Amino acid sequence: MSRYHAIMTNDVVNGEGVCVSFWVQGCPHHCPGCFNPETWDFKEGQPYTEHTKWEIIEDIGANGLTRNFSILGGEPLDEHNVGMVEEVVTAVRQAYPNIKIFLWTGFTIEDLSGCFDQKIGRILNTIDVLIDGPFIEAEKDLSLKLRGSKNQRIFQKIDGKFEEKK
Ligand code: SF4
Repeated sequence: MSRYHAIMTNDVVNGEGVCVSFWVQGCPHHCPGCFNPETWDFKEGQPYTEHTKWEIIEDIGANGLTRNFSILGGEPLDEHNVGMVEEVVTAVRQAYPNIKIFLWTGFTIEDLSGCFDQKIGRILNTIDVLIDGPFIEAEKDLSLKLRGSKNQRIFQKIDGKFEEKK
């Protein structure tokens, strides 16, 4: 069973505007200097259930404000987490066709484009913005938007394809 680390209802740091942020639990990358090492262990955090999905959907529309949605880690695209993430992004997209969905991964877009996992393919088809690559301490730059190090890139979906945002 997949596990998650936390849900934040009103996050103004990760994403654009106000977002519901969902941190998955478990990461195989173990980047030195990672800001969230407590998300590395696949056995920690809380079990994901149907209730978690509905909590996220309710939170996105809570108090009459529609929020964007951010998925962070941990590693959302690890094999232990893709089933959960696919279920959540599919449900969120059905409930809110017009919000922006952001996803952070330690894999590069090149790693992902050579991957034939259908769940990952469906997740990438559903989200709007992908922030890729591991955190590299030697390239750390706290002034970067949405990223911790210069090697990481922001890809925005335009006409169904990811294009790097410079
Ligand atoms: S991929 Fe992200 S969560 Fe995983 S170790 Fe690297 S910085 Fe931390």
